[in-house]
Amino acid sequence: MVYYPCIVLDIAYRPFTVFSHIKAFVLIYSGKAEMIESYRERSIRTIDREILAPLVIRVAFLSKRWGKVAPSRRAIFLRDNFTCAYCGKLVRDSEVTIDHIVPKSRGGTFSWGNLITACDRCNQKKGDKLPEEAGMPLLFEPYKPTKFEVELKRWRLNSEFETVLEVFYPQFKKLINK
Ligand SMILES: [Zn+2]
Repeated sequence: MVYYPCIVLDIAYRPFTVFSHIKAFVLIYSGKAEMIESYRERSIRTIDREILAPLVIRVAFLSKRWGKVAPSRRAIFLRDNFTCAYCGKLVRDSEVTIDHIVPKSRGGTFSWGNLITACDRCNQKKGDKLPEEAGMPLLFEPYKPTKFEVELKRWRLNSEFETVLEVFYPQFKKLINK
């Protein structure tokens, strides 16, 4: 089974999260969402017919569960596009680490504002210092991303999806690292 991403809009048409086209279909089918845009070349086969896969849906209500965006390791890497904040290198899975900007030993917390992606070399070099003490200024600042940004970056996108994103939500198209 291949899953395609589907943009989920809230009642005010704001992009809120990204679901699989299957989950989106179930919401539509159970009357909890309406189809705004569908894929043209991707479909869902039910027992008696074939339906174009949802690409954008709008939900009538938001579940609290959908909106949580906790700073997990994976979510930090996604936010930072797997880029080391100290040397700017794209970091592969084997060498990607999380750096506490203010070190744990000095009271730094596990929070969006204090966590940043670093390669293992930079992380070791920085050690228990602050960036300014180590002479390693941040190349970009940490921030709390929206749920939509993190969910969007989890997906392998297809060209139909990217086109819709570019046309209707250009501000989010910029977030995707190529
Ligand atoms: Zn680095």
